[in-house]
Amino acid sequence: MNIVRTIADLKKDIRHFKLDHHSIGFVPTMGFLHEGHLTLARKARTENDTVIMSIFVNPLQFGPNEDFERYPRDEERDIKLAEEAGVDLLFLPSVEEMYPEEPAVTLTVHKRTSALCGLTREGHFDGVATVVMKLFHLTEADRAYFGKKDAQQLAVIHGLVDSLNVPIEIIGVETVREPDGLAKSSRNVYLLPEEREKAPAIYRALQLVKKSVEAGEADIALLKEKARRMLEEEGGAEIDYLEILSYPELEPADSASGTIIAAAAVKYKNARLIDNIILPVKGSASCSAQ
Ligand code: AMP
Repeated sequence: MNIVRTIADLKKDIRHFKLDHHSIGFVPTMGFLHEGHLTLARKARTENDTVIMSIFVNPLQFGPNEDFERYPRDEERDIKLAEEAGVDLLFLPSVEEMYPEEPAVTLTVHKRTSALCGLTREGHFDGVATVVMKLFHLTEADRAYFGKKDAQQLAVIHGLVDSLNVPIEIIGVETVREPDGLAKSSRNVYLLPEEREKAPAIYRALQLVKKSVEAGEADIALLKEKARRMLEEEGGAEIDYLEILSYPELEPADSASGTIIAAAAVKYKNARLIDNIILPVKGSASCSAQ
């Protein structure tokens, strides 16, 4: 595995891949790798000649009171895990390398951000879209892999690629979970032991929505109320949101046809966790992967 830290070195390697007509699969991450990230990398490995992973904690997508400074980092371990997952090129740029000066142009996301994390994380998805667009240009990838755990992010990336005609295929990958259902996340390390015990209630509450929908329940308000009650009773956390919306539009689900998302964000003492499930509405045949 080749490790590069500068854009100049990255471009040199990309030139060789392109000369060899390699297809390039790209996995953008913020590091502190776990099975979720590695699943993305392994899928990219099976579908492309060359796999590039980036590890970059992007300051543009963190608010002033968020956890940019204390976001977990372990470069040595990440290098080992990325190599084991079959990554060919690991791009590890510094903040100065990515943003040598204040950018003259950044992106603004206009749709799919007025709900869920977009409500409280102002500017977050603009920062995500901007860095992802830079990374798409830098890697010249054919395919990019994103986790459905960050379903709103995935919806925004689909919007970005569609709106700006970015020549890349976006692949959504199922959420990887701990055996007790908790979605794997770099931020799980910040859970206190008693919080870690209770956190699987997030997934249980989402599963309750799924089972109720499958049993024929179509009243969105009732579904939300049932799930919220379970999460309040068992989650041991402050609920930031528990929503059921259309997906990928993220609009009120009452009139949804096709696919809905049940999504939750909860705040523990040192970590804010998100999770979701995406499911077809009754009577609809498809559950789109967007
Ligand atoms: P992050 O490092 O948190 O920015 O995540 C990098 C990529 O890994 C994103 O596309 C995430 O959606 C994805 N990812 C994070 N956690 C999981 C998970 N538990 N299962 C699947 N993908 C994940």
